[in-house]
Amino acid sequence: MQGNLLSGKKIVVMGVANKRSIAWGCAQSLQEQGADVVYTYQNDSVKNHIAPLIGDSLCVRCDVTEENGVKNAFATIQEQCGTIDGVIHAIAYADKESLHGGLLKTTKTSYNQALDISAYSFMEVARYAASLMKQGGSLVTLTYMGATRAVPHYNIMGVAKAALESEVRYLAHELGKQQIRVNAISAGAIKTLAVTGVDHYRELLKASKELTVDEQAVTLAEIGNVAAFLMSSLSTGMTGDILFVDKGVHTA
Ligand code: NAD
Repeated sequence: MQGNLLSGKKIVVMGVANKRSIAWGCAQSLQEQGADVVYTYQNDSVKNHIAPLIGDSLCVRCDVTEENGVKNAFATIQEQCGTIDGVIHAIAYADKESLHGGLLKTTKTSYNQALDISAYSFMEVARYAASLMKQGGSLVTLTYMGATRAVPHYNIMGVAKAALESEVRYLAHELGKQQIRVNAISAGAIKTLAVTGVDHYRELLKASKELTVDEQAVTLAEIGNVAAFLMSSLSTGMTGDILFVDKGVHTA
């Protein structure tokens, strides 16, 4: 859907791994609304995968587990772009053993890794991104209803998403005076690389689809369009919020 809701805005999209990524759905909607999109990627292998998708857009390496990884990425973005208007954070990871084994078998190392990549990284992104948002801005992260419900097999990732959702509320209050809004999109289940790490993910996807109001899974474009709305001045009244984009699954 073409429009000009975001013309003149520079938005950083973190977490495109391939064309199935939710971040890619967001990037496409942002561009359709006139935004200038800057990408960050985890490593060279991801960079090679996304190169054909993103053309000559600015693309900056950012592995959130590396010492100063986020700080350095935003320093490069500042050098290249000056200020920015928003960030989409679509990054998460938990190792297969802890996803498979459940909380009782999750080690401290796996817990720290899942929370570090999937939740702490958003706080760090907010810290460095906020310093580039001189005219205010919008930060959006991606969550899932496993944050507040014990969704079978979601396990440690549900714990990480609960932390992430809490961060959304606290960061919204810390950044409010700078006119920086912070929200999360709680997306319906969609087949991406990340989901294939969850045991029995096909059943999860099937069950989620059956619980939507029209038995059609939510699309990348539907999630991306809400991201575009949250990046736009149409949503200035919203911050600290979790927006469900799951076609009614969480209400079923
Ligand atoms: P995806 O696999 O396409 O994206 C996950 C991204 O995280 C990848 O680009 C990967 O490179 C990045 N990443 C992982 N570790 C990283 C690190 N150390 N440093 C930097 N980047 C790293 O999968 P997706 O489903 O599009 O996931 C995007 C977000 O959406 C995640 O937060 C996920 O939990 C969330 N989400 C997904 C669903 C779903 O059903 N797919 C539903 C709700 C929320």
